Amino acid sequence: MADNKEIGSDNDTGTGAGGMDMRQLFLRHVAQTSPNPLAIEIARAEGLYLYDPAGKVYMDLIGGISVCNMGHRHPRVVEAIREQADRYLHVLVYGELIQSPQVQYARLLAEHLPVSLNSVYFTNSGAEAVEGAMKLAKRLTGRTEIVAFDQSYHGSTQGALSIMGDEYWRNAYRPLLPGVWHMKYDAMESLDRITENTACVIAETVQAERGVYVPRTEWMKALRRRCDETGALLILDEIQAGFGRTGKLWGFEQYGIVPDVLLLGKALGGGMPLGAFVADRGKMWALTGAPVLGHITTFGGHPVSCAAGMAGLQVLLEEDWMKEVGEKEALFRELLVHPAIRAVRSCGLLMAVEFESYAINKAIIDRCIEKGLLTDWFLFAPHCMRIAPPLLITEEEIRRACGIILACI
Ligand code: PLP
Repeated sequence: MADNKEIGSDNDTGTGAGGMDMRQLFLRHVAQTSPNPLAIEIARAEGLYLYDPAGKVYMDLIGGISVCNMGHRHPRVVEAIREQADRYLHVLVYGELIQSPQVQYARLLAEHLPVSLNSVYFTNSGAEAVEGAMKLAKRLTGRTEIVAFDQSYHGSTQGALSIMGDEYWRNAYRPLLPGVWHMKYDAMESLDRITENTACVIAETVQAERGVYVPRTEWMKALRRRCDETGALLILDEIQAGFGRTGKLWGFEQYGIVPDVLLLGKALGGGMPLGAFVADRGKMWALTGAPVLGHITTFGGHPVSCAAGMAGLQVLLEEDWMKEVGEKEALFRELLVHPAIRAVRSCGLLMAVEFESYAINKAIIDRCIEKGLLTDWFLFAPHCMRIAPPLLITEEEIRRACGIILACI
């Protein structure tokens, strides 16, 4: 990896503007978040596959990090985007004008959610949904404390970072939100920290970045009960686990509980940027007064994103993919057996393959990428390989993917 002095220097030779190729321009002008980005140029994407400009094909085993559950560029999603682009793009800030893609998508979501989750606030991203939900909890309860859990990821804005469950990632940005308690996930004793001062408890329905950790149903039910006893709002983060990834439409279904606020994102937009926090209309009403405009966003619920997301959800509801998740998960687990694989943890097609160390995992990931298989590691479990493919992956493709992984170990 070149250091910054070399990137895009006058001596660069290449095919792009100013003698620089696309990779050099990317490193020079697109703000970087790591010293070693994958830096693979994408020319086109379709279904399970990404294509680079030279025609190299990559099987996408991570689906844009749990975004492309219905595959890349599903034709129905692309058609919905085109149709909406022909009507209107941005017209006004969120919440004033009636934009039918928002209305119709909110209705479709409400039809497929428990009756108490009937009012959808569309945002731009998952993190913004987290921010909005925390604000709503403070407004509704008049309380300030928030309980979150170790090894949880909820986004990268300051509020979402304040509840992130890992001090290494939080520390550089202190001071963060006061009054946040980080407790052990799936531990009964953590529930004692939820009191009459707690505005809300925020938990993922499956801890993804921990390397896929599924809590006990008994704990989730106890968490629900403790929130009821204390009047704290239960906010469940389905941003990564939602939209069929666990085999159910919503991850919380497996525990038989209903949150007060549900957080959605990633696959919600069918490949377009979209997030949402969903609650009962009566609760959401708190954002309308004293002061009004309890949460403001210019682009949240963009009509093109809503049209795309709605088409994506319709496809997901019509296809058999969700029913097949269990079988596909079992096939991955059957095939991914090797002395170097220490464990495979999964919740549907959200899977973590555990190796001894990050170094080993990263070397295997790099080799997989060379061989045309795109995968990744987890934020709080860098020794684990991420598997979260578009749900349309076939049996033959799973066999091929696992063959590549095993060959690369
Ligand atoms: N919550 C969870 C569980 C996530 O996995 C993520 C993103 O990875 C977020 C929240 C934040 O979403 P976004 O990146 O859209 O802000």
